[in-house]
Amino acid sequence: MSYRIGQGFDVHRWVTGRPLILGGVTVPHSHGLEGHSDADVLIHAIIDALLGAAGLGDIGRHFPDSDPQYKGIDSGQLLDRVRGMLAEKGWKVENIDATLIGQKPRMAPHIPLMEARLAALLAIEVMRINVKATTTEGLGFTGRQEGLAAMASALLYRDPPGAHPAKLVVLRPGEPRPAD
Ligand SMILES: [Zn+2]
Repeated sequence: MSYRIGQGFDVHRWVTGRPLILGGVTVPHSHGLEGHSDADVLIHAIIDALLGAAGLGDIGRHFPDSDPQYKGIDSGQLLDRVRGMLAEKGWKVENIDATLIGQKPRMAPHIPLMEARLAALLAIEVMRINVKATTTEGLGFTGRQEGLAAMASALLYRDPPGAHPAKLVVLRPGEPRPAD
């Protein structure tokens, strides 16, 4: 089995007049996040972790924010496309661990729903996804409530290309090794 690890990080600015969407779930709050898409900072960090693990670059390379087709797009659709890219290369998700970093709102009541939604989008068991949240004790841009940040790690696995069960080959003296 072959394993690859990836990490992702994303930040969006708090604004008024937009819904707050995290992990595909609408979280009731006085502010939402600014962005070209729905600004789902959690899904964006997870996408970058998955693409990074698969060696496929980053979210901006596949879904540039200069492209009008991604304006206001549901980031769940982007995650679904990334799931397709990984499947094409034979990668499966072992697990994802993600952290939301911000002062407000309280995330705990919404986390089980986020995990369920992310698992459904990736077509994996919910036990493979862990979402947590932390504050920065009022420090920095997240503490001043200028923006919300998210980090994610992802582990992918697949059978190595051309993998086959080990074969016992007995060579006579001087006989060349067979090609793999
Ligand atoms: Zn983003």
